[in-house]
Amino acid sequence: MTNLPLRPELANEQPYGAPQLEVPVALNVNENPYAPSTAVIDTLRQDVAAAAAGLHRYPDRDFPALRQALADYLARESGVGLPKEQLWAANGSNEVLTHVLQAFGGPGRKAATFAPSYSMYSEYARNTHTAWVEGEREADFTLDPARAVAFIEEHQPAVILLASPNNPTGTALPLGTVEAILDAAAQVVVPDAPEPNVGAIVVVDEAYAEFRSAGTPSALNLLARHPNLAVSRTMSKAFAAAGLRLGYLAASQPLVDALRVVRLPYHLSAVTQAAALAALKHSDELLAQVDTLRRERDGLVAWLRGQGLQVADTDANFALFGPFADRGAVWQGLLDRGVLIREVGPPGWLRVSVGTSWETKAFKQALIEVMEARSK
Ligand SMILES: *Cc1c(COP(=O)(O)O)cnc(C)c1O
Repeated sequence: MTNLPLRPELANEQPYGAPQLEVPVALNVNENPYAPSTAVIDTLRQDVAAAAAGLHRYPDRDFPALRQALADYLARESGVGLPKEQLWAANGSNEVLTHVLQAFGGPGRKAATFAPSYSMYSEYARNTHTAWVEGEREADFTLDPARAVAFIEEHQPAVILLASPNNPTGTALPLGTVEAILDAAAQVVVPDAPEPNVGAIVVVDEAYAEFRSAGTPSALNLLARHPNLAVSRTMSKAFAAAGLRLGYLAASQPLVDALRVVRLPYHLSAVTQAAALAALKHSDELLAQVDTLRRERDGLVAWLRGQGLQVADTDANFALFGPFADRGAVWQGLLDRGVLIREVGPPGWLRVSVGTSWETKAFKQALIEVMEARSK
């Protein structure tokens, strides 16, 4: 590339990210398709203006008001009450998860997931000099607890990242599977760790938790019994605030305090804190569309199956479908018709986010045309 003295593991690496194209129907990055209402925008305007009056000062490093508001939200959403000291936040859950790897990964240690899963995980490991290992999901993208436990026993990872619902497949993990992994993680011998210790850290990434089926419990319910568990969430998906950049995590207080050590000073700007608090005041309204999106998703999955396609069972706001002999051609055919989806996941599969009913209609129409053109 150049004559820069780059770290060898960064040679030929490309920046992560889906193409950001201007298209009529963008169903590629699992955003909530509903823009904030004028009521939300008015609160944001007022609260961010108030924060602006104090911008000559550094923000509160520990943002207790925001952590309390996040704890209040989780108590309402999942029924699990936590003190604000057990909450942490950063600029997107991507930064939160980077904090976890900075605190618990590092040279001589490994981090793990079960593929296919979120492709950023291996980048957090790379960026923090942590070795990376990947176990496998089953053919239907579920996790077999016995195989997952055997993998952990074999590789002894210091950090285990589990997305539930998983991206890009939509698969939710039963709490029994998470508990089997937590128990195996507790037995891991983490290199250079003080004795005794809680074993490997298990992160359940619940970026899509609000879309899970009714009656499915959150891994937050396991926090009281498992000091090696962290549950991450984000305002980017169900919360309709991807542009805000606010992710958060719930864990034991000692685990959260470890993340406070590695964060950059004042990492959450006063403007971000004010905007996130303002959005949380409207959480009921921002989440009002989640039920609609869930119904839209179930309809979309049934329709895709009706076309003779396979669709992974999904508890998220997207569906992985296929297989196609040449998924790149299908992706391009849709794009030519103004519909952008994501070419991601195992070979042959494509991922489409759930949009408004109008967007879903446009996607279906475009896919019918593309499949007809290909069968000629
Ligand atoms: C979208 C997504 C995130 C969220 O990232 P933010 O940085 O909070 O926007 C985290 N994990 C998974 C699996 C995701 O798909």
